[in-house]
Amino acid sequence: MEMDLCNLSVIRSLMAEEGIAFRKEFGQNFLINPKVPQRIAENCTDEADSMILEIGPGIGCLTKELAIRYAKVVAVEIDRGLIPILAKTLADHPNVTVLNQDVMKVDLPRLVQEYAGGKPVSVCANLPYYITTPILMYLLESGVRFSSITVMVQNEVADRLCAAAGDADYGQITAMIGYYGRVKRLFRVTAGSFTPAPKVDSAVVRIDLYEESPFTVRDFAFFQNIVRGAFEMRRKTLVNALSSKLSLPKDRIAAALAELGFSETVRGEKLSTKDFVDLSGLLL
Ligand code: SAM
Repeated sequence: MEMDLCNLSVIRSLMAEEGIAFRKEFGQNFLINPKVPQRIAENCTDEADSMILEIGPGIGCLTKELAIRYAKVVAVEIDRGLIPILAKTLADHPNVTVLNQDVMKVDLPRLVQEYAGGKPVSVCANLPYYITTPILMYLLESGVRFSSITVMVQNEVADRLCAAAGDADYGQITAMIGYYGRVKRLFRVTAGSFTPAPKVDSAVVRIDLYEESPFTVRDFAFFQNIVRGAFEMRRKTLVNALSSKLSLPKDRIAAALAELGFSETVRGEKLSTKDFVDLSGLLL
């Protein structure tokens, strides 16, 4: 019989059978609203012949929805205690491979080479909240050409990811993601859709990655440093923040900003990804 993996008593009994409890340090909030994993899986890519990389399958509720829609699923789960449960809940889905690893330590290009067999690759995950931004940056900087990255994150993180330059929520991650692709907010998910329920609502966002970046950056590390420097000292003007971070003369930075149409008192949050790209070109 099909197991309902979003049913609280099913979740509890699967975990009790293995003698495990929820691990807060791994950001374990499992979905108990069956519509949510269905909706996430449906919206993560248009290409059925994809390999989907899932991060943190938990007991497999989203994994299952991905497995019935896409050619291949590779699910990376850090918690060893969940692995025997996943073996049971995903037994009917031979196109799923579960790896017991910390995603931050996975060699992603190698994983893709091993499992994708030339198919397009997308990421789909209900992310552990303690490590959302590092995971997103790790995926983006991995060198793998993902078609899309669809993730559930805390609602306020979704606001940050989707912000435009000048918005209060705009930050380092927004400017960096803008280099790699376009972010779209898909839908909101209430805190009550999880067990244990987190304090805040969540939202699902999708990043559609550029096949070719529209930006030309001569020295990527320098560009990254500029973006980092701009937001590390948020209360400083960009001129002051960058001159101390990069040891550049203030008048040179002010001149470059003027060339881009910004005043010398502008702060980092006013600059779009393209502005940062242009600024790094002028300062290199
Ligand atoms: N996908 C399940 C769901 O939607 O109900 C669980 C999502 S839960 C928010 C996050 C999952 O990520 C947990 O299963 C947790 O153990 C796992 N996890 C946490 N840190 C991880 C890491 N560094 N690498 C891989 N998995 C991780």
